[in-house]
Amino acid sequence: FSTSARQVRGPSGERLGAALAYQEITELMRAIQVQDEFVSSVSHELRTPLTSVLGHLEMLADEEHPPGVEAQLRVVQRNASRLAALVTDLLLVAQVGEHGLRLQARSVDLSAVVRECVLAARPDADKAQVDLAVLLPDRLVTVVDEQRIRQVLDNLVSNAVKYSPEGGSATITLRDLGETVELSVTDTGIGIAPDDVERVFTRFFRGGHALDQHIPGTGLGLNIVSSIVAAHGGTVSLDSEVGVGSTFRVTLPHRPAAGD
Ligand code: ADP
Repeated sequence: FSTSARQVRGPSGERLGAALAYQEITELMRAIQVQDEFVSSVSHELRTPLTSVLGHLEMLADEEHPPGVEAQLRVVQRNASRLAALVTDLLLVAQVGEHGLRLQARSVDLSAVVRECVLAARPDADKAQVDLAVLLPDRLVTVVDEQRIRQVLDNLVSNAVKYSPEGGSATITLRDLGETVELSVTDTGIGIAPDDVERVFTRFFRGGHALDQHIPGTGLGLNIVSSIVAAHGGTVSLDSEVGVGSTFRVTLPHRPAAGD
């Protein structure tokens, strides 16, 4: 059961008593647990055959093929990789639901991580004709789970590219605020409607714009971002205006380097 209570007051503010509400949430919790278990077992089942498909594709890539076959193989490879990325995301989401995220935290130079993530995002950004800019200190060392923070950056930067029209731009900024470090990604993209701002972080949520414009996605990226940031004891906030752009701001505790 969940319980909540509030005071009941008369027209001139006098106390009349208290209202107590009991709500049965066991069923709801059970339904969420069943969903997590289902997502987890389906993802595990999908992973094995997918790994085999990707392995065989890699072997085929080493062989000579007629030009037409080569192009088709690339399409298969690209889609199999997308599926593999989806399965990885689903496994992470299920892990968060089942027993929380386990972090492997160590001292990391966040400036270097941001540089590498932006470099990796450049080919897609160039293809989409979206300019990427970075504002970084030379070095910013703090204790985080590097792989997870890379996921945060990859999701935010790829969204900035994906949801920006041609000719748009995205700026990735990293700042040392003393007690915290702030990582923000600002884009000049399609923006997010006020009603959707809270909902974009929920699992499987996709905005109307994304669906109307057939922009590919799964609705898992920002949910993963918020889980990873929460596991680090940080916060993520969003400012957005439709037709103008969005800023996602991640704040993480600035932990001194291990061994200092
Ligand atoms: P996906 O991009 O796969 O749909 P996300 O969880 O990353 O999933 O994002 C959820 C939704 O939030 C998107 O479908 C889109 O509507 C909206 N969104 C996320 N990032 C941006 C952005 N930078 N600009 C505009 N809309 C965005």
